[in-house]
Amino acid sequence: MSRVYHKCHFCGGTVSERKITVDYRWGEKLVTVIKNVPTGVCEACGEQYFKAEIVKAMERVAGSKKKPKEVLKIPVRELRVA
Ligand SMILES: [Zn+2]
Repeated sequence: MSRVYHKCHFCGGTVSERKITVDYRWGEKLVTVIKNVPTGVCEACGEQYFKAEIVKAMERVAGSKKKPKEVLKIPVRELRVA
């Protein structure tokens, strides 16, 4: 079952669904990579659209206490410019 997306809000292009990898961020402390996320992607400009149920499913999986599929180390850096 495929979800239906409106035309692109920005350029009017056709939006079709693809499975993408999302860098999901919640505040300062939680960063998680979620694979296999069904996302509407504009074929012309690449803008991404998420359905409400997908956003909810991502929130759920991001807060899950289950052992993750994989754990990555993420370098944290600071920009020092005047
Ligand atoms: Zn577009």
